[in-house]
Order: sequence, then structure tokens, then C-alpha cells
Amino acid sequence: MRVLVVEDEPDLLASLLQALREDGYAVDGAPDGEDGLFKAEAFDYDAIVLDYMLPKMDGVELLTRLRRTRRTPVLMLTARDGVKDRVLALDTGADDYLVKPFDLEELFARLRALIRRSAQQSQTRIEIKDVVVDIAARTVARGGEQVALTAREYALVEYLAMHSGKLITRSTLYEHLFDENESTLSNLLDVHVSNIRRKLGYDFITTRRGHGYFIDSGTGEAPV
Ligand code: CA
Repeated sequence: MRVLVVEDEPDLLASLLQALREDGYAVDGAPDGEDGLFKAEAFDYDAIVLDYMLPKMDGVELLTRLRRTRRTPVLMLTARDGVKDRVLALDTGADDYLVKPFDLEELFARLRALIRRSAQQSQTRIEIKDVVVDIAARTVARGGEQVALTAREYALVEYLAMHSGKLITRSTLYEHLFDENESTLSNLLDVHVSNIRRKLGYDFITTRRGHGYFIDSGTGEAPV
């Protein structure tokens, strides 16, 4: 999953980016509203963490403009006494909010919930044959045994599992799993797919050569 964080406090921005990266997200940062809007419109993020008070363009203005073209889930960060701000944020199209100062665990939980909702995935456990992907605990088990995946391997499995039955192109995967500083010219994706097959079974991920990858949803229908 790829997340954008728009936050003007440098220390908070840096710590959010680091914590999200450690949790396996691809993540980009923006220090003001203008840069935030540019990135939010340029890339197909799975979620955006958006501070309310920002230089150049505030969070509500950014959100108003973004909603003309994109439905990206937005988690708004607001001040403790900002009841009116929170109402305005929700009315403008924010999907959720969090009051500063907040706990990182809660931010992560709310982000996961937002991403699940936008993928229309109400369950936190996705079963594919003998593999169970637990998107709340962020673990994967095969035949009842936990399987150790790297953060990036997990992110790839989670993305395909949440969109199982759909053909996902390589460019979509690069857009959702790698941030703007990572090269998309390498064969990184193939390396991850081959490692996942080694751990979860060769037929866990199907390659449609020249198009992309998919995980069988178990319905026996061809991916769309
Ligand atoms: Ca701020």
C-alpha cells in the first residue's frame, strides 16, 4: 500500500514516514498543501494522512480540490479543540480524522480500516486456498503455520489478496508498492513474486504474461 503524508511539522513528518516505512508501506511526504495536492493528484495513493493547518494551502482547501477528481481515502489530523474543523473536514470529504497529539498505533489502525473500506474488504482475514492473510495483524499463515515475509513481500501479498480475482498490472503494483524515490526500472517486482511463491506455493500468484498478476478468488472465474 502506498500512503501520502502531508504535514508541515518536520519532526512529525519524518517520524510518520519512518514508522509507515517500517510497517511495510510505500510512503511519500509533502511539507505543505501545494506539494501535497500535486502529489495527491499525480499518484494513485491507497490513503492520505492530511494535516488540517498547512502552509500555502490548508487541508480543507486541498481536500476540496482533490475531491473534484479523486476518491482517495483521507485521514485528517486536527487540533484538540477543533470541533468545527473536524465537522468541516468530514463535510468536505474526509473519511476519518484523528486529534493531535495521537498514538501511532491508532493512526495505523485507522489507516488499515480506511484502506479496507476503500477496497470494499470488510473482513480482516482473507483466505486463499490454504493461505490466510490477516490484514489486521499483518501476518500470513499457510496450512495453519505462520510464514515469515519481508515487509515488502507482505505488502505485495496484501495488495493482491485485497483485490483477489482482479488482474493487477505491473504498473499498478509499482505505483502502490514503491515510493517516488525507488527505481521502477529494476526487476524488483519479479524477485518479490518469486520469493513469495517459494514461501506460499508456486500457484499462489498467477502471472498473466505481458499484463500482470492475480490471485485466484476461488470462484473459478477468469480475472477481470
Ligand atoms: Ca500543521
